Amino acid sequence: MLRRHVKTTGWFLYLSIKVRQAMPVFPRISMKPEVTEYLKSVYINKEVLTVVGPEEAERRFQNLLTCLSHPPSYTCVRASTHLAPLEEIHHQLGEELKKICSLSAQEASVHILPHPQVKDVLLLPVDGPRCVQQLSSEVVVGAQCANAVLRGANVFAPGILGSPKYMKVGDVVSVFSDLEGRCTRGATNYQGKKVFVGNGVAKRDRSSIFCPGEPARGVGVQMVDPLYRSPSFDGVLPSLVFLQNLPSVVVGHVLDPHPGERILDMCAAPGGKTCHIAALMGDQGEVVALDKIRSKIAQIQENAQILRLQSIKAFCFDGTKAVSSDSTQTSEGPPFPAESFDRVLLDAPCSGLGQRPNMSITWSLKEICSYQPLQRKLFHTAVRLLKKGGVLVYSTCTITLAENEEQVAWALHTFPRLTLQLQKPHIGAEGMLGAGLSSEQLHLLQRFSPELSWDQTQTTSLPCRADGDTIGFFIAKFMKT
Ligand code: SAM
Repeated sequence: MLRRHVKTTGWFLYLSIKVRQAMPVFPRISMKPEVTEYLKSVYINKEVLTVVGPEEAERRFQNLLTCLSHPPSYTCVRASTHLAPLEEIHHQLGEELKKICSLSAQEASVHILPHPQVKDVLLLPVDGPRCVQQLSSEVVVGAQCANAVLRGANVFAPGILGSPKYMKVGDVVSVFSDLEGRCTRGATNYQGKKVFVGNGVAKRDRSSIFCPGEPARGVGVQMVDPLYRSPSFDGVLPSLVFLQNLPSVVVGHVLDPHPGERILDMCAAPGGKTCHIAALMGDQGEVVALDKIRSKIAQIQENAQILRLQSIKAFCFDGTKAVSSDSTQTSEGPPFPAESFDRVLLDAPCSGLGQRPNMSITWSLKEICSYQPLQRKLFHTAVRLLKKGGVLVYSTCTITLAENEEQVAWALHTFPRLTLQLQKPHIGAEGMLGAGLSSEQLHLLQRFSPELSWDQTQTTSLPCRADGDTIGFFIAKFMKT
């Protein structure tokens, strides 16, 4: 009897170890306790508590911590409808992805869905988390690289931090994300906190990845069995499809630029939204793109060139200084005289806490809180550069009140000539309670709040799921009266 019990327990243990190995165990986002407390105070603030009650507020906060570490359930691409009709791009993309699938011996059924409300968006459902067996050969990559892998990318050589000692081309390896940023380059057996993101085939020898001098380039590991499967868009129809999060595409439509107008994109690199604005204008008019970091200007120009857009002029310039004190100055570059632009986009530098997937926030609370003053400085310039009757769109990819609804309350108070405008399309949620805005004002704001619709069983159908399960994002639209 005892022997039988031992035998059964043994089997049970063996099976449970096997199952534990095969099932995707995915962590919640990790962060410093001070940051968790801060985010909790944002999500469980007095106004939220009064309206939804403590249980619902807590449920939303817990959902947030889980969904931030997982990728959105759809990959979104913006179609270059200034170059070809959506249906044609849809067809070409399907054919291209089928070709890629057959080359890598994957199942060739590719689902691509046009978004019902955003006329230049194609959505591709993400398959995951999948059950993938971990292997003994481990490649460790930086967190940013791993996040890209979870969204369908291959591992590029510069992202690799550690690999087996004798890794050679063709070896099958498991890829892990270095959660704490502690793996040193060239490690052979990293034992720190890491998370499995899938299996792939090495495309480079270890020696060529870590060779001194020349930095390694190109694909280092091609993902064949990722935890989340979605197509890699590397080199796929580069002028016809542009990988972009759904809320970022919505920003361009909310700005609603028209052919012939002069538009300012104040914080523009790498230029995803700049290019969208130019495309929506049929490349007729002028889109001025500024960014403070010189090396990023080339990215804007490169994207404009790939997407065949000529109305974009990119300058390296500090947006806070972009308004000239000389109202007669007419040079085409910054600084500009006041009231020079029909529309201004302020896609502000922000704490970026809405980015998904993100398994670990390493920032301190001080760093997170440092953005509000900079955003206000930029906002001052944006309002001055906007013509009377012009439109200003303010957006962030973060989830705090301080950088979103509180900025709107501050702006409405500081600039009495600004009024909030209706947004089209409005597919996200409304603004979040907690900054003292009225329900009419909140209604005019658009907040993409993945925690509201997060559901791991994922039973909701499109478009609800695609619209809800996005990165965290915020959009406000103003008019200068
Ligand atoms: N709009 C971009 C897009 O969709 O591709 C993303 C912009 S990103 C959220 C913010 C950008 O602001 C960064 O590229 C950063 O270099 C830039 N930035 C930060 N401070 C700035 C400043 N004072 N003036 C201009 N750009 C700034």
